[in-house]
Amino acid sequence: MPASNQLKIRKLLKRQKYEHELNLMYQSILEGIRKELNFNNFLKLVIQSVCKGLGFKRAGIFLVDPDGKSVSLAMGIDKKGRYEKNKDRIPIDLRPGQGHFSDIINGRKKFFYSNDVPRRMPGADFHIPVFNNALVPLQFGREKAIGAIAVDNLNKNRPITKADVIRLMNYATEVGLAIESFRSHERMVSLSFTDPMTGLYNRRFFDKALAQELSRAQRYDRFFSLLLIDIDHFKRVNDTYGHDAGDEILQQIAEILQSNIRSLDVVARIGGEEFAIILPETQTHIDVVVNRLLKEVRIAKPRIASMISEDQNVTISIGQASYQGGTLSAADLLKLADKSLYEAKRTGRDKAGPHHITQSKARKKKRK
Ligand code: GH3
Ligand code: MG
Ligand code: MG
Repeated sequence: MPASNQLKIRKLLKRQKYEHELNLMYQSILEGIRKELNFNNFLKLVIQSVCKGLGFKRAGIFLVDPDGKSVSLAMGIDKKGRYEKNKDRIPIDLRPGQGHFSDIINGRKKFFYSNDVPRRMPGADFHIPVFNNALVPLQFGREKAIGAIAVDNLNKNRPITKADVIRLMNYATEVGLAIESFRSHERMVSLSFTDPMTGLYNRRFFDKALAQELSRAQRYDRFFSLLLIDIDHFKRVNDTYGHDAGDEILQQIAEILQSNIRSLDVVARIGGEEFAIILPETQTHIDVVVNRLLKEVRIAKPRIASMISEDQNVTISIGQASYQGGTLSAADLLKLADKSLYEAKRTGRDKAGPHHITQSKARKKKRK
């Protein structure tokens, strides 16, 4: 292979690796926004109260994995008081007699406790002598268990009594309820960031994501682009084909936007027939993206029955602005993109307006 090709491949691989890392980082930021609450901190609180409140040296919250076939340690506290998590899956078997975890999760046993030195305690560290241990389900009402709390080494090495286990079970019921309401809150938060018609992010999420992206760029001296997209003469489309056809076109355009950007870009429906895209780490190749979006929408004949016979296509106009430094606000950046969109509309539609690029004073000076 010629040396120049090898160099090209190496460059490509490097770029792919960089994009992958960037993607991961960005996804975690988005997750952070979406969740608002921190599940881990909540679990830490629970595990601490099991240890301090009930007097166990070590405790772990095991949750059933999404496939329902195993449990893993969502949060634990070790003998030295350090938090621990473990992705190792402990399989759950439906057949009887397959271990304490299986029996408890399947509802075969209400609880388990032992004051002997156990030979096999799943999830326990066998290098540490375990004097006594207990396992109770995380369960509420008659619902299926969503996990289990495991504890061992009661203070001062006294044996675990049935009363201890009953207390732990009562507590586990509360915890089970809290975890469930936490999860449903998470589901609700994620729903409240989604536009139901197109499945894209909504205005609320977009505002948060833009603020986050801007402060990230300002703090770390990074850059990003913002696109505002508005469907051309959409009122006319509605008037001609009806509101339902209009809705279908909106969904179709949302799909086109979504499938022509990178996974780390954020696309949102921010108004009736208006969309916005945040493109982190994009500057020079923004033209490529903009032209691709314009073209893909232009050539996608709406798949609407009443429009198939028509020689009609729907088009969009795009406003573009890029952040490359400076102390402006998210609203300022939106104004720049909006000005660009207005120009695109004014000068004939089905095109992008001028690309506004912000710059810090220091950079401007350097360029002079
Ligand atoms: P321009 O090219 O200047 O953007 O013209 P336009 O007709 O698209 O702009 P205008 O703002 O006058 O009209 C927007 C239209 O979008 C009006 C409204 O009926 C339509 N619209 C907004 N939201 C929805 C929606 O959810 N469904 C449908 N079917 N139409 C919508
Ligand atoms: Mg509009
Ligand atoms: Mg419009």
